[in-house]
Amino acid sequence: MRKPIIAGNWKMHQTPAQAKALAQEIRAGLNQTVLSEREVILCPPFVDLTVVEEAVRGSGIGLGAQNFYPKEEGAFTGEISAPMLKELGVTYVIIGHSERRQHFREDDDFVNQKVLSALKNGLKPILCVGERLDEMEANLTEKRIETQLTGGLKDVSPEGLSSMVVAYEPVWAIGTGKNATPRQARDVHRFIRGWIAAKFGEGPADRLRIQYGGSVKAENAASLLTQPDIDGALVGGASLSADSFLAIVKY
Ligand code: PEP
Repeated sequence: MRKPIIAGNWKMHQTPAQAKALAQEIRAGLNQTVLSEREVILCPPFVDLTVVEEAVRGSGIGLGAQNFYPKEEGAFTGEISAPMLKELGVTYVIIGHSERRQHFREDDDFVNQKVLSALKNGLKPILCVGERLDEMEANLTEKRIETQLTGGLKDVSPEGLSSMVVAYEPVWAIGTGKNATPRQARDVHRFIRGWIAAKFGEGPADRLRIQYGGSVKAENAASLLTQPDIDGALVGGASLSADSFLAIVKY
């Protein structure tokens, strides 16, 4: 039985004071019963990690980072390493988000370096894959996702995969208010699990959690997240309000 995982990606929002207040509000809205049924992860900007960690400490809510640089230390001005994140209490890290692929030109090879570095340093990667609108319209969704999975998971062992999460996020649905229909999302999730089964075996594929992301809101959460093969959500915009995020967690 896969425990659903709901992660809030706060992107470049929330000053430390705002982040503290939001994390406290989310914590106050979750009890142990909910947290025994759902894994909840907050992914604030780097500068907010410490205050958010303090706000959720002891609650069972997890901490994720939105990015890192895949070297342990060195002359990489402005970058943050996996060991630095670990020391702050971070357990998950988002890798391959479409905004990083688009605005920062991160390709599958770099995504793979991050996946391998995260695993080596004991961080759990949330590997994001998803097709652009033109690819979806040209029926290239599966091809695109297969390329991203092949590249992103290169040299990952079945043991490594067991601490990973995959997030299917159609690029055309991120921050646009358009979401995949439950059926569209279900079909792609099924494709991803089948691909994982062919490469890693049925057991690892069965245990892998695959989140849906792309304009998930309180209103559409239940219809998406109750689909077979959808094991939670990666939530952007709606994770910036405690009310909407909590409603999604409790879908
Ligand atoms: C995201 O950033 O991963 C995302 C899915 O954003 P939104 O929910 O705003 O579409």
